[in-house]
Amino acid sequence: MLASPAENLIKLTKPQSAALKKLGIFTVKDLLLHLPFRYQDFSQIKNIRDLKPGENVSIRGKVKSIVSRFSFRGRMNLAEAVICDESGCVKVVWFNQGYLAKSLAKGEKIFLAGTPEVYKNTLQFANPIHEKASDFPVHTMRLVPVYHLKSGLYPRTLRNLISAAMPAAPQLQDELPADLLKNQNLPGLDAAVIFAHFPKSPEQLELAKKRLAFEEIFYNQLAAQKYKIEQARIGSYEVKFDQTLIKNFVSRLPFALTAEQKKAAWDILQDLEKPTPANRLLEGDVGSGKTLVALIAALQAAAAGFQAVLLAPTEILAKQHFETALKYLKIQKLKIKNCLLTNSYAKIGEDNVGKSKLRMLINEGMPGLYIGTHALLQKSVHFKKLALVIIDEQHRFGVQQRATLVKTAAKTHKIPHLLSLTATPIPRSLQLAFFGELEVSRIKTKPEGRKPVITRLVGDQDRRNAYEFIAKQIANGRQAFVITPLIEETDSLGVKSAKTEADALQKIFPALKIGLLHGRMKTAEKEAAMADFLANKSQILVATSVVEVGVDVPNASIMVIEGAERFGLSQLHQFRGRVGRAEHQSYCLVFCQKENDAVKNRLEAFAKTADGFELAEMDLKFRGSGEIYGAAQSGWNFKYFSSSYTDLIAPAREQAQKLLTADPELKSHPELQNRVKEKIIHFE
Ligand code: ADP
Ligand code: MG
Repeated sequence: MLASPAENLIKLTKPQSAALKKLGIFTVKDLLLHLPFRYQDFSQIKNIRDLKPGENVSIRGKVKSIVSRFSFRGRMNLAEAVICDESGCVKVVWFNQGYLAKSLAKGEKIFLAGTPEVYKNTLQFANPIHEKASDFPVHTMRLVPVYHLKSGLYPRTLRNLISAAMPAAPQLQDELPADLLKNQNLPGLDAAVIFAHFPKSPEQLELAKKRLAFEEIFYNQLAAQKYKIEQARIGSYEVKFDQTLIKNFVSRLPFALTAEQKKAAWDILQDLEKPTPANRLLEGDVGSGKTLVALIAALQAAAAGFQAVLLAPTEILAKQHFETALKYLKIQKLKIKNCLLTNSYAKIGEDNVGKSKLRMLINEGMPGLYIGTHALLQKSVHFKKLALVIIDEQHRFGVQQRATLVKTAAKTHKIPHLLSLTATPIPRSLQLAFFGELEVSRIKTKPEGRKPVITRLVGDQDRRNAYEFIAKQIANGRQAFVITPLIEETDSLGVKSAKTEADALQKIFPALKIGLLHGRMKTAEKEAAMADFLANKSQILVATSVVEVGVDVPNASIMVIEGAERFGLSQLHQFRGRVGRAEHQSYCLVFCQKENDAVKNRLEAFAKTADGFELAEMDLKFRGSGEIYGAAQSGWNFKYFSSSYTDLIAPAREQAQKLLTADPELKSHPELQNRVKEKIIHFE
């Protein structure tokens, strides 16, 4: 029964069958596993006399009268009925469904679910869900599930199909071991599926959701553990910590490291000595000095004769890191190869070498520091002695790209140690879920002497004042960034939004030079725009959010963010971090058009909070984990697991460990073996 075709369960039209297949539903089993994504609560059943406007309710009654008529105003056929029970009668209207007058006969017993409203002084139902009275209501009288659909398929049809499939539910095979379910007090898959489609109570529904969330997080933890075991077996290069080298390097820096930078660098250098691959996250607010910590680790690996990669999300940022490294290496007089590989550059130190030449040297295993963008991930690049991979702004890289790096490296038969840098902290509980086992170093305090940026929300009525303020700052010699959001999806490179804004600003500030930075510009053009701004040849730089303004412009003291409601708090914080990098008091002006209360609350919280960690937590609260740690970032597409189930991670992890200790290859659980194979990619 589970394997039989879903489309034969009830009579379907051709387009309906096609839509079903488009949903990926072929068999009865597929149908059973097509679970609702939300519910409409029509479980409250009322007498007609007791109906109140605005309440979601179900009623049971008899059709007293039903007629169809054409509404000239609405230009459609509608059905009008009066439905009565023992307590009273209520008017019902179905727009565009005049045919109901034929299918519902006078005197027929029916159930209705909907929300009565007052119309012309009387209470009526408009477009309620209806079904003929029965012992097993499907569309009314309960928590009515809402399913993902494809055009051609109506909610009613899908509910009927699923209802017809329910007798097969007890045949569903559980992949989770029975003793595990028992010790976690979770229902089996069969029960969970029944509860999810036909919950008898909110508690039952919650139990179903919990079980499904547990299953996902259990597979995730199992894959994480298994992956870790496999990686440990392959092992990584042991990079000896040369204390003299590092001490000398640090002592020759133009400033002293902060205590937390020292601690983080120490942690990483310890990691590098181990024969098993490290997976460490370095969290630190924008401007906290993560780059230097990363460079210290990379330097150590390169000095010991290995290859170290520093991967940046944009060419501008890669170039900047490269130049920073160049500067420090010069001071140190160290003979370490410092290389840059991006779409437009292939450099060793100050020399331009061809891309293919550089790739060849990489493949031959030339020790050194390799800084670059995605260009480092091309198929033709195979690091031969890769000891360390550092990913800057790790959230900007997809899973696939991280996987590529580890895979190129795996050809060397060693797994590189991995260090990810982020200014967007992830709560510990979620880290485990999204990245598996992970060590964390934190830089909480910034280097001394930075003035906090003053943040102000600017509504449309204050726009003119804000421009006057900007003009004054610029007259005093300062500069301003203006970030524009992507407004249309078709404008994915932000060309239009940035250009429009730059033109508008040029009219407001006719005497100033306005620079422009967007995704369609060539590298050389981008660099020229950045160089002009850095040299104060342009006073305002308009940039899209897609072009991360990675360059340090200490003279810029104003960050204007247009359409701020479109950005997450962490992202806003990143923008704000571009100013306040020198002695000038800096300002972040947050412009927002859509002023509803939720937006205002969120942005006010942003204005009040200077701490990126706190903002990340708030993001989680305001937007939920799904959006922040979405598929792009983690590769995990959790369907049921969410931040409200973080309590399940620890037990899932424990159970996964237990299972793997008893059966490392999962020999007695072939289904779990397959699951793990599917998931393991996410940790690479
Ligand atoms: P982020 O953590 O955002 O990547 P960066 O590494 O770009 O921050 O550092 C921001 C700035 O702080 C850089 O100009 C860097 O040279 C400077 N910096 C880093 N560490 C220190 C320190 N200990 N004292 C003073 N300035 C520092
Ligand atoms: Mg950085």
